[in-house]
Amino acid sequence: MIVLAGKIFWLLGVIAWCAIRYAPYRRSKRTKTAVERDRNREWVLLAISFVGMFLLPFIFVVADQPRFANYSATSPQIIVGALVCAFAMLVFYRTHKELGRNWSATLEVREGHVLVTTGIYRSLRHPMYAGYWLWMISQALLLANWVAGLAGLVAFGLHYFLRIGHEEQMLRERFGDAYADYAARTNRIIPGLY
Ligand code: SAH
Repeated sequence: MIVLAGKIFWLLGVIAWCAIRYAPYRRSKRTKTAVERDRNREWVLLAISFVGMFLLPFIFVVADQPRFANYSATSPQIIVGALVCAFAMLVFYRTHKELGRNWSATLEVREGHVLVTTGIYRSLRHPMYAGYWLWMISQALLLANWVAGLAGLVAFGLHYFLRIGHEEQMLRERFGDAYADYAARTNRIIPGLY
């Protein structure tokens, strides 16, 4: 019962994420790209994220596999997981709203790209990635399977650490001192810490 509740909350999170991302995705297809970075590496990283964040969890949700990695979850674990997931969705909603046309799934600078430094971007420069970390923590809590639960943290972790330096470098080249100043007064994903 508890395991099923966790699976349902995970699925609701995926549906919410798709709904939040639908309009930005359509808009981004209409917005012209000025610079595109590391296209092949970015697509490999997206594929790895897809496996860890969607495919392996989905296999566990529908087929209860891999069975050797199942464990029994507790209700507090599922409740905290659902709350963290809901919070992550709020973060996605806000960050998409604030980034607007400047958002892209892979590393790109758009035509007319504007550096966003207000709202949720005032103190953090990667709040959307903070949202992904929270979402992946919620996946680990909601799915009572060591493989499906932790796959998201591993896959997104890889994606995050192999991308973040390149993204900042790209924005530094595009916005110069404005980005250097912005980076000097903000943290990446954890307010006051990192
Ligand atoms: N790293 C950000 C944005 C993720 S979307 C976050 O976690 O919130 C990725 C795209 O956003 C990149 O291709 C980059 O061009 C753009 N981007 C990142 N930070 C930005 C900012 N402060 N203002 C405008 N665009 C930004």
